[in-house]
Formats: sequence, C-alpha cells, structure tokens
Amino acid sequence: MTDRRTELAANLAQVEERIASACAAAGRERGEVTLIVVTKTYPASDVRILHELGVRQVAENRDQDAAPKAAACADLSLTWHFVGQLQTNKVRSVAGYADVVQSVDRVRLVTALSAAAVRGERELGCLIQVALDAESGERGDRGGVAPDAIEELADAVEAAPGLRLDGLMTVAPLAGPYAGRQRAAFDRLMEFSSRLRGNHPAANMVSAGMSADLEDAVAAGATHVRVGTAVLGVRPRLG
Ligand SMILES: *Cc1c(COP(=O)(O)O)cnc(C)c1O
Repeated sequence: MTDRRTELAANLAQVEERIASACAAAGRERGEVTLIVVTKTYPASDVRILHELGVRQVAENRDQDAAPKAAACADLSLTWHFVGQLQTNKVRSVAGYADVVQSVDRVRLVTALSAAAVRGERELGCLIQVALDAESGERGDRGGVAPDAIEELADAVEAAPGLRLDGLMTVAPLAGPYAGRQRAAFDRLMEFSSRLRGNHPAANMVSAGMSADLEDAVAAGATHVRVGTAVLGVRPRLG
C-alpha cells in the first residue's frame, strides 16, 4: 500500500462510519444514501485509488480539470457527476464524460445539454440545482435557481431529448435566512423534492450535504451526499 492509498482508505472508512451513524440515527437504511466523492483539484491517480477502494461515484466542478481526468480514467467503471456552475460553451465537453449534471439552473442550459447529449448519443441525468437564498427570478451566488422556478425547469428537462430528470440538488447557503442552518435548508429542499415527485415520480434523487454537513443532509432525507475534503484532504486551492 502506498501512503496515499492508506490515507484515502482511512478517510473513506471514517466518512463511511459518519454516513452509517447518520442513517442509524435517522432510522434509515444505509443503502438509501449514496456517497459521491468530489475529486476536484485532485489528480487522476487519486480517482484510480478511490476506484480500487470501491468508490463508483465521483464529482467534479470544473470542465478544464474534469475532462482530462475523466479521459485518464476512461477504463474504470465510474459514474461522473458534474456539480459546478456550467457555462454553455463547456456543455459539449461535459456531455462527453458526465453521466449526471447536478447544476442545471436555467432553460438555456437545458437546451444546450440536450443538443450535446443527442449529438453525442448519450443520455444525461439532470438535477435541478436549487438556490435556497435566491429571490424569485434570480440565481444564487453559488449557482442554482430560485425555488419558484423548479417546476418550469423540470418540465423543460422532461421534454428535452437526451436528458433524464433525476431530481434536485442544493448547496447549503452561506448567506440569507438559511445561513448556518443546514438542517432547515435541507428540510426545505426535501419539501421541494416531495412537490416535484408529485408530477415527476422518477425524479427522486436528492443531492445535499458535503464534508461539514452530511449528517444534516442524511437526517433530512438526502439520497446522495457529495464529500470532498473529508475523503481527499483540504484542497490546495479553492475549487
Ligand atoms: C466542492 C464541492 C463539494 C464537496 O465539498 P467538501 O466540503 O470538500 O466536502 C460538494 N458539492 C459541491 C457543489 C462542491 O463544489
């Protein structure tokens, strides 16, 4: 075992224990929550080690970083999630390797993703990113759409060739009424998810919670947590 492998294995075990405890505390089965490891800023060699350690879901937030990494790991069976703010000029590249785009937050992006998916003969899962701190008609500081636009976007995804509506994603807001209130934020997201599932029963994925607040997300009912730092270490630069 290399040192890095030992380190990643230990971190992964710790995160696994946190998820298992959070599930137990919430009366949920461990299998109801999927761990996505956010590998942004870390090298393809780490992705390879994580795969050896059993990780099958990884996430990236910048195409420049993600595209070469995904190419270097093309031989591994991995599900790639894109979780960053996405410009339309990057969509074609992202649609080449991403299986799920978690940061869908405007109709223009839906249109571009659909065209790229069709062109690449791929099906892309889509999560609508909800900005709990955004006012009607605005987008959040960290991306995402105001809650009152969820349904319109959901309908757009549902109607778009090559796209599959999977559910909702959020990042706990740093400002506004939910700042520092992760559990309340995630509870609110779950309400929006219930409403969405009324019209789109298959869109049952709820992506919430990161290294600092995964317990809150599991308690609220998240189906997917996105964990970077707690597995890979503190990032060398802001990602
Ligand atoms: C970086 C990132 C994460 C992981 O954050 P950590 O605090 O490192 O666990 C999760 N979600 C998104 C959207 C991210 O950009």
